[in-house]
Amino acid sequence: MSRVYNFSAGPAVLPEEVLKEAAAEMLDYKGTGMSVMEMSHRSKAYQAIIDEAEADLRDLLNIPDNYKVLFLQGGASQQFAMIPMNLMKNGVADYIVTGQWAKKAYQEACMYGKANKIASSEDETFSYIPDCSDLPISEDADYVYICENNTIYGTKFKTLPNTKGKVLVSDVSSCFLSEPMDVTKYGMIYGGVQKNIGPAGVVIAIIREDLITEDTLPGTPTMLKYKIHVDNGSMYNTPPAYGIYICGKVFKWIKKMGGLTAMKEHNEKKAKILYDFLDQSKLFKGTVRAEDRSLMNVPFVTGSDELDAKFVKEAKEAGFENLKGHRSVGGMRASIYNAMPIEGVEKLVAFMKKFEEENA
Ligand SMILES: *Cc1c(COP(=O)(O)O)cnc(C)c1O
Repeated sequence: MSRVYNFSAGPAVLPEEVLKEAAAEMLDYKGTGMSVMEMSHRSKAYQAIIDEAEADLRDLLNIPDNYKVLFLQGGASQQFAMIPMNLMKNGVADYIVTGQWAKKAYQEACMYGKANKIASSEDETFSYIPDCSDLPISEDADYVYICENNTIYGTKFKTLPNTKGKVLVSDVSSCFLSEPMDVTKYGMIYGGVQKNIGPAGVVIAIIREDLITEDTLPGTPTMLKYKIHVDNGSMYNTPPAYGIYICGKVFKWIKKMGGLTAMKEHNEKKAKILYDFLDQSKLFKGTVRAEDRSLMNVPFVTGSDELDAKFVKEAKEAGFENLKGHRSVGGMRASIYNAMPIEGVEKLVAFMKKFEEENA
């Protein structure tokens, strides 16, 4: 068996320990004589899996009792519609557009009500986070929307926007559980799990109770109502059962690693190794304003498309996979999520040094 260092932005690297455990339980989950994949979601064994997953997530993030936790499907992209359908009670929302994902969410919201783009960093290819301390928040806005970590561009909100009392909704797909967060500052937090938590197919939403009502936009399909999923404990229909089981294992792995404070230290250490190298390199350079840099996604370029392509090719041959930048920006991107070991980043930097010497 040989595993590569996988720098994919998502689906992405998972803890090896979790994969091994899942493999060991594949044919016979805890004496049930079947795989979790084959199990009724109405069974006692499965109920215990989903209950434990929720309890561990609540523990990790310190989620207060007045927030509901949902395990949903449809990818983070389905939330771009579900959010306005469920939360736009006045038909108005403010969007801060800091990348492609926020832009898509904004465009989707425009189909359901009055979505206002109140700030954007598109003027400089989303390479920074705009100042959000005093934005023109709409008086009747139902919520203010952000994408907290911009997976494609490698920026992260280090301070949350001043929403002037309005509900904050945040897409945390690519920074979920990478560091502690104060849930009480948000009305809703959500993310697709395939970036930092588990297999594609599960979306986790954490929503303040008072925002979950029957009052949705006319025509909202039953499956797209938060209330129906809350009332049915995320099992209105068959949930993405196996995916939730793996998420549960990852929650336990994070707890074992010391929780989110330890995870943050681990992630800061890794990111520093890479950013310190980029800051002194004569060949490679980071593309993001230093104070807005993400701990999770690190884009960089050589300045030459040819050299970029050569780097990606040679890196792959050396066992560093998926370093090609997003198709919309080019260059390179190293995604260094929770499960990326520190050696992966150290070895990548050693490889970059060597490449720099050879191509000076
Ligand atoms: C990947 C990603 C999405 C889209 O996720 P899907 O599950 O493919 O819909 C949305 N937002 C962010 C921040 C992402 O990184």
